[in-house]
Amino acid sequence: MTMEHILIVGAGIAAVTAADALRRAGHTGRITVVGDEPHAPYSRPPLSKGVLKKTETLDSVTLPALPADVELLRGTPAVALDRDARTVRLADGQSLPYDGLVIATGARARTLRADGAGETVLRGIDDALALEARWAHARSVLVIGGGFLGMEVASTARHLGLDVTVIDLVPHLVRQFGTYLTERMTAAAEASGVSLVVAPEGIELIGDDVVQGVRTVGGATRAADVVVSAVGDLPNVEWLASAGLADPRGLLVDSRCRIAPDIVAIGDVARTGERRTPHWGAAIDQARVAAVALLHGDEAAEYVPAPYFWTEQWGLDLKICGEIPIDVEPEVIAGSWHENSLLLQYSVDGVPVAAASVNRRFPITKLRALAQPALVAS
Ligand SMILES: Cc1cc2nc3c(=O)[nH]c(=O)nc-3n(C[C@H](O)[C@H](O)[C@H](O)COP(=O)(O)OP(=O)(O)OC[C@H]3O[C@@H](n4cnc5c(N)ncnc54)[C@H](O)[C@@H]3O)c2cc1C
Repeated sequence: MTMEHILIVGAGIAAVTAADALRRAGHTGRITVVGDEPHAPYSRPPLSKGVLKKTETLDSVTLPALPADVELLRGTPAVALDRDARTVRLADGQSLPYDGLVIATGARARTLRADGAGETVLRGIDDALALEARWAHARSVLVIGGGFLGMEVASTARHLGLDVTVIDLVPHLVRQFGTYLTERMTAAAEASGVSLVVAPEGIELIGDDVVQGVRTVGGATRAADVVVSAVGDLPNVEWLASAGLADPRGLLVDSRCRIAPDIVAIGDVARTGERRTPHWGAAIDQARVAAVALLHGDEAAEYVPAPYFWTEQWGLDLKICGEIPIDVEPEVIAGSWHENSLLLQYSVDGVPVAAASVNRRFPITKLRALAQPALVAS
């Protein structure tokens, strides 16, 4: 099949990387990128960090421009896919034909209420600017959700001098960072004056037009000037319902990120197994594999997950390769907590599975080699 026109739906890092990778892999035909946001493609990780702190702006987080010969349609959501006709319909009524389709529609913030009424979330640049404007007149912030995003928002709010509480159903951060790092991170959070609350039996939101606080099952209430829901994300698959692809767990792809020979799915919307890996590095790696797979099929190299993730909170700059096993004590390879700079390696049954750097300049390739030597050597 000749790939004359490749249509990319979504305009985040996965989409932009795919457009670039298609050109690098020799695609000379037309490429169109369709995004539903009005902005030029931008980077999301700084939203909870520099943008909320006002050290970054929309301009500074805008991604490098797409190749000049790639057409970008902004503010135009895709609303339906017809796989037989090979067309994607946009909300403005246009129907775009394609030979190859890249689905890169990412994810949106999950909310606690079904319709999200009154909830404040952080997913896009407009959310970040709106939150930052509300903070300017606030004294207190309650963050619901103690995962990496909730804790980054809390850290930034505290940095700005706000009274901050973070509430979760389970102990904060543990699932992503394991008990060893979590103990240090939560100690740093509490030392900065933040209150961390665990409410295992659940919470109920208070406030209709705007959420003003929570009530725990025990009956205690906690109110704040700004309440932020940071309770995970949901893949943007609804527009694919007519094509029978709207799996709420994300789009299952093969080892080359394909749904079919003419359709690939990448980034936060896709999953290669049971779970999605909604991280920046995975979106980039998948986009590169998918671009070649769309053009060259099985000649493309397979996607090999190489988990990489970073976060900045409580003065700790953490980079993590691999998946940290929850209760494993890591080996300190270099540095110490006393120096506030160190390198950790996690092993299971003597086999390294993850590595982390804390406040340390260390190349990611070396961190990856420390985390998964077998993977890097192969
Ligand atoms: C605040 C925040 C901080 C983060 N920090 C980190 C971090 O420190 N480290 C890390 O590894 N990861 C981080 N992430 C995750 C990382 O940003 C994502 O994994 C990455 O952005 C995924 O890229 P993507 O292109 O798949 O999806 P997205 O970035 O979500 O882009 C998808 C785009 O498609 C658009 N779209 C959706 N539906 C349609 C439609 N029907 N038609 C057209 N367009 C559509 C969306 O509006 C969006 O513009 C963070 C995420 C957030 C929100």
